[in-house]
Amino acid sequence: MFDLTEKQTEIRAWAREFAELEIAPRAADMDRAGTYDPAALDALFGAGMMGLLVPSDHGGTGASTLEYVTAVEELARCDASTALVMSIHSSLCVALLAEHASDRIREHVLPELATKKLGAFALTELDPTKPLVAPEDGDHFVASGTKMYITNGPIADVIVLFGVTGQIEVEKDGKKSLRDETSALLVEAEHADGLTRESAGTKIGLRAAPVGKLTFDGVRIPAAHVVGKRGKGMRMAFGVLDGGRIGAAAMAVGIGQAALEAATGYALSRVTGGRPIAKFQAVQLMIADMATRLEAARALTYQAASAMDRGEPYAELAAQAKLFASETASFVASKALQVHGGAGVVAELHPVERYFRDARVTEIIEGTSEIQKLVVAGWELRG
Ligand SMILES: Cc1cc2nc3c(=O)[nH]c(=O)nc-3n(C[C@H](O)[C@H](O)[C@H](O)COP(=O)(O)OP(=O)(O)OC[C@H]3O[C@@H](n4cnc5c(N)ncnc54)[C@H](O)[C@@H]3O)c2cc1C
Repeated sequence: MFDLTEKQTEIRAWAREFAELEIAPRAADMDRAGTYDPAALDALFGAGMMGLLVPSDHGGTGASTLEYVTAVEELARCDASTALVMSIHSSLCVALLAEHASDRIREHVLPELATKKLGAFALTELDPTKPLVAPEDGDHFVASGTKMYITNGPIADVIVLFGVTGQIEVEKDGKKSLRDETSALLVEAEHADGLTRESAGTKIGLRAAPVGKLTFDGVRIPAAHVVGKRGKGMRMAFGVLDGGRIGAAAMAVGIGQAALEAATGYALSRVTGGRPIAKFQAVQLMIADMATRLEAARALTYQAASAMDRGEPYAELAAQAKLFASETASFVASKALQVHGGAGVVAELHPVERYFRDARVTEIIEGTSEIQKLVVAGWELRG
């Protein structure tokens, strides 16, 4: 096991206790209903879970990446939807604002994001050929277009929105051309006239997490709500996505841990032919593969988090961790389901089918496996 400091171990223990007490008892019902229980969200805010990445001078904990990662992992072990709600709020919305927003914006929104307001990060386009546009109009930008698959989007109070705010001239090989200029804009949902929010639909996994389609129809956003430098939206988005991938990897590790525990518990208690199935080598081999790959995924995830904490390059490690941990979670959950036999496919009997469905989605969120491979290859082949 990767060496955690005393403080990191304490945060992990605190997160485990919270998740087992407040989240685990709600997980199956939330999954079945396909909605997030507001009481669970209140509990997350009440415990300080949503303020982990908010700097301490703005009312949060100012946790290190590794501390944060252990908390995400523990939440996912009990309920991956909760881990998604918390991690998108933290490692994408809060992290981008904490790193790039003006002092005025930081002082205004970060304390609320630590204690009561839910954040979202709206980058993915419904149709990438028609990106959301937000041209300038006096002292406002006017947003029109549709964002898709936005976690927390249907209920978020604060949305970091990426939109095309204009065009800039670029020169390549002596030729000049115009390119879209994308900026990050802070949207406060309560002041966003013209914003329509709906669910993206019924998901295969992470069902309880509110993931939505956000349609902006002439939503006026004050010019003072540009986050960071105008035109630098994509650079900032890709920057925080590197860190976000470590959170996504931690989520996958947490799901894998839950699946492994379910499989070992079941193998020890299920008796066929007069022996617990744990006595059969075929089952032992599955458990060994699951435990080994999971430990490797955890080590890679912690290594990426530690590199980020030390201020070392971490983008490649983050992509490797996300790629390996998500595919490992799918593998481990699939094997866990196999160990359960028929009981594994019935939702009312064992949570392992939920782990199987949740794990699959981790291979898509925050960049598909294919995109992670492109990132890794880019680093390896940079010359
Ligand atoms: C549950 C959930 C929550 C999400 N939350 C958020 C959120 O909070 N905010 C947000 O902005 N987005 C969010 N997303 C969107 C998510 O990040 C994207 O769905 C994901 O990055 C894939 O993009 P896409 O859906 O546009 O797929 P596409 O880009 O259309 O990809 C389709 C397929 O083509 C492959 N592909 C695409 N481009 C390439 C390429 N260049 N090289 C090789 N293969 C390629 C992909 O790997 C994939 O297999 C969420 C998605 C889900 C499912």
